[in-house]
Amino acid sequence: MTATTPQASSATRRAVGDKLIACILSLTLVAAPGSIYADAMDLPDFGSPADNVMTLAEQRELGIEFMKWMRQSLDISTDPLITDYIQTLGHRLVSASRETRGHYDFFVVEDPRINAFAGPAGNIGVNAGLILAAETESELAAVLAHEIAHVSQNHLLRAVAAQKQMTIPAIALLVAAAVLGATVDGQAGAAAMMGIQGAVAQRQINFTRANEEEADRIGIDTLARAGQDPYAMPGFFKKLTQANRVYESGAPELLRTHPVTSDRIADALGRAERFGPSQKPDSLRFHLTRAHLWELSFNRADQAIDHFQDTLQKGRYRNETAEHYGYALALARAGRVNDAAAQLEPLLSADPSQVEFVVLQSQLDRRRGNAAKAARDLKGSVGLDPGSWPLQQAYAEALMDAGKPGEALATLERLVAQRPDVTPVYQLMADAAVKAGDSTSAMRWRAEYLYRTGDLEPAIRQLELALRQPDLEFHLASKIQVRLDELQAEERRSKHHGKPER
Ligand SMILES: [Zn+2]
Repeated sequence: MTATTPQASSATRRAVGDKLIACILSLTLVAAPGSIYADAMDLPDFGSPADNVMTLAEQRELGIEFMKWMRQSLDISTDPLITDYIQTLGHRLVSASRETRGHYDFFVVEDPRINAFAGPAGNIGVNAGLILAAETESELAAVLAHEIAHVSQNHLLRAVAAQKQMTIPAIALLVAAAVLGATVDGQAGAAAMMGIQGAVAQRQINFTRANEEEADRIGIDTLARAGQDPYAMPGFFKKLTQANRVYESGAPELLRTHPVTSDRIADALGRAERFGPSQKPDSLRFHLTRAHLWELSFNRADQAIDHFQDTLQKGRYRNETAEHYGYALALARAGRVNDAAAQLEPLLSADPSQVEFVVLQSQLDRRRGNAAKAARDLKGSVGLDPGSWPLQQAYAEALMDAGKPGEALATLERLVAQRPDVTPVYQLMADAAVKAGDSTSAMRWRAEYLYRTGDLEPAIRQLELALRQPDLEFHLASKIQVRLDELQAEERRSKHHGKPER
């Protein structure tokens, strides 16, 4: 994780304790019936699909511009295990929902405050603090299902469509300010940097009360269809509301002036009753991800070690396997590689294909100078699960350490062919290509990374450079040319259509 201050880690602990509310709830959890934000909303009802409001290309550009601000302002996790877990859970909910069309991307923000938000183009962010505050996987799924419904019902796109005079980058900035205004400290946040007050942005772009009710209703339906507990929606919201009452003095302005009322919870409870409870057990990955985030929430490894020793000794955990895994991670961070391996060994014997265990084992092997062994061990796992980002990345990293950057690059190229959305991997591919002495591929994948993180013009320059490399193989040259044409077309579009047409 990024540099977590001791204050931040103690905030994480507070967050799951009874003072649960060192938190700011954004768009989602705030707009309650009766909130002035909700009542002040006067959005045009387009009553039409988002595609009529904004073209797909414009939506995509809006999403990229929005994510650019998010990356600059928030600590977005690039950890393959954490990100893959939230993406897997999110996409499972999308598949279970009635509206499976459209683009969705899920990411974790390394922030101890309890928050989640939906941006444009299906970008859904979840704070680490929310994952830690969720006591069951259904509670986490409830928040995700609610956000997914905001996306599938085009709530945000309809709201931004009201900003008729604005260009797409300006809309992206406004949406980012609205999200950040509720998540980032007012003075330090990007919202202030942008010269836009988060609260002001929020009044311009916010979900209406009807939006919230619809997201709850559709979200509960999705939960039930995915086999998660529909009662988790009212249950989790109620818990957050109660936390808000406890935290009278220090609550953020937003929550104090616009408290979540019991109406929405009662409505959600009524809806959940139509489905009945589900007793689906939490996945092991849910518990492992929480243990991982707990471990990261400590500033120093010795604090994390103390924490896990204490919980294991007192039996204060929900899942013993996950607690040992967290302890192993803490020991590994402290450089106690053999102790970490001893913690991991029984976990791995009990479940030799669990991705978290396999990846940690390979990391410990690499730390002990056994990169070749790590690569050999991973080869089998990777073959069984070629679309697994955590496994493929661990395999590629082991190959790099073992002095085989060419094979590492080939591995990652197979991964992105299946999962082109794994943005951080393109950076790793560019590094592998450099180490392999393949400058054309280095430029090609650097271009892809730049493009996906919102730097269109530098991406185009990289591709132009790649095409000028001597002895360029025809097949590769055609691929690069095709991609260059696509990016240039996009650049022309964004210059001509900076302003959304409608
Ligand atoms: Zn909402």
